[in-house]
Amino acid sequence: MKIGIPNEISDGERRVAIVPKTATQLLKDGHEVFVEIGAGEKACFPDTEYEQAGAVIIKDKQLLYSGADVIMKIQPPQREEIEMMKNDSTYIGFLSSVLDAEFLNLMNQKSISSFAMEFIPRISRSQSMDALSSMASIAGYRAVLIAAQYLGKFFPLMMTAAGTIPPAKLLVVGAGVAGLQAIATARRLGARVEAFDTRPAVKEQVESLGAQFIEMELVKNAETAAGYAKEMTEEFMKRERKIIGDRAAQNHVVITTAQLFGKKAPILITEEMVKKMQKGSVIIDLAAEQGGNCEITEPGKNIYKHGVTICGVLNLPSTLPIDASSMYSRNITQFFKHLYKAEDRNLDFEDKITKSSCVTYNGEIVNDYVRTAIRKGANT
Ligand code: NAD
Repeated sequence: MKIGIPNEISDGERRVAIVPKTATQLLKDGHEVFVEIGAGEKACFPDTEYEQAGAVIIKDKQLLYSGADVIMKIQPPQREEIEMMKNDSTYIGFLSSVLDAEFLNLMNQKSISSFAMEFIPRISRSQSMDALSSMASIAGYRAVLIAAQYLGKFFPLMMTAAGTIPPAKLLVVGAGVAGLQAIATARRLGARVEAFDTRPAVKEQVESLGAQFIEMELVKNAETAAGYAKEMTEEFMKRERKIIGDRAAQNHVVITTAQLFGKKAPILITEEMVKKMQKGSVIIDLAAEQGGNCEITEPGKNIYKHGVTICGVLNLPSTLPIDASSMYSRNITQFFKHLYKAEDRNLDFEDKITKSSCVTYNGEIVNDYVRTAIRKGANT
């Protein structure tokens, strides 16, 4: 197959979907790889490295899109990118933020088969394809480094001739992939860490990283069948906010990561709670992309209010473009190999990974989740 790797055109995006090392693997499997000129530049993968790997550099974006059987990207495509793709070709990348009826119609008119990386089910055999986890892990790591930069205190315990300085205290709310990586990173930097999550299964993982799990009476069946957190009742959220508020006032850094699949992020930190935090504290809101876990977060901005710095960080994986691209590149390549593993390159819709991740095929929306979301949108 002819695989096209375009330049990411979204503002501030520094990653590239395929790095030279994985381009080699695709070529070994008998595919051809075409890379838009400069596509890897911002991630420190120059065109020469792709050429050495055996890929072909294409100067003309239109030519790249219209010649490819498969386009691999990271950021959801913009309309003009889909317009440039050839009929009956395949698109693989993150997609959910652009899935509206008009956009899907455009893909269906061109009979584009599209696959959303974020819909790959989180099951053991798809771990090597799980780009959500790879990127969340980078975000968790980066969040701690940003907190360390803004906090006017050391993270580790310092015993100096000028006195002993106690370690910074850090609270992580939402101990999924990003939260656990944040805990591990903060522990490596010597901070004292505590964490909370609504899923009881997480307690053991938090403790195994040397952090303390904040105890609260949790509800049974806090997870969906896919392993994501369920939306909690308002009564539960009130109790949670009370506990988080008390703990936030005792900590110097709060990293929030709580998200609900396909929904707005829950508000866990109100402005009143921010007012009670110690002056100089830092909140890193990793849920900013979904509105934020803190009531006063401004997505994409760092604000200073009531003596607290609140960072509404967006697209942190792009700030670590070398490793983020390498990880994503491995994920998408494994996924692509899985999709087209049959000798005749036919897709197997009996397979859970293929079925769950496919959005459009043969001119139709084939994904139940997307179909329902579009229908709901149409009814409102
Ligand atoms: P996520 O980004 O959807 O959410 C982050 C965390 O916030 C989750 O742990 C969630 O429980 C928590 N949360 C939600 N509402 C909350 C609230 N009100 N208060 C506190 N915490 C709250 O999560 P994720 O990192 O994408 O992980 C989602 C699930 O997928 C987890 O069960 C994870 O273990 C699972 N997973 C499985 C695999 C695999 O088996 N291959 C790989 C990765 C993740």
